[in-house]
Amino acid sequence: MLVRPGLRKFSTDQEQRIIGAIQSRLPAKLGCSACTHTQWTLADGFVFLSLSDSPGSIPIGGNGLPSVALTCKNCGNTLLFNLIVLGLRDLWESAAPEKAGMPQGGFEMNPSRWF
Ligand SMILES: [Zn+2]
Repeated sequence: MLVRPGLRKFSTDQEQRIIGAIQSRLPAKLGCSACTHTQWTLADGFVFLSLSDSPGSIPIGGNGLPSVALTCKNCGNTLLFNLIVLGLRDLWESAAPEKAGMPQGGFEMNPSRWF
């Protein structure tokens, strides 16, 4: 798995917590929706999806969805899982913005805008 320099590498404890939270919510043998392969790898860093009120702008900071990604080992299909929904808010909040690859200024969570 390629990881951009500067992204935080998960500790073994963090990785186990993330994988445990995902496994507790999914079928034991989750098949890839693209190729049906059942082996996945956890991307070694947070994924932050920015939310914007304007389709023509690229937001820096602001609201977003702190997530982790599982990638199919066969075809690369990638699934994102929201850390807040997984009950892992502390992992996100403990990551320094610069280590998590976040722009300075941080973010605000607004769960009413999740869908
Ligand atoms: Zn696949």
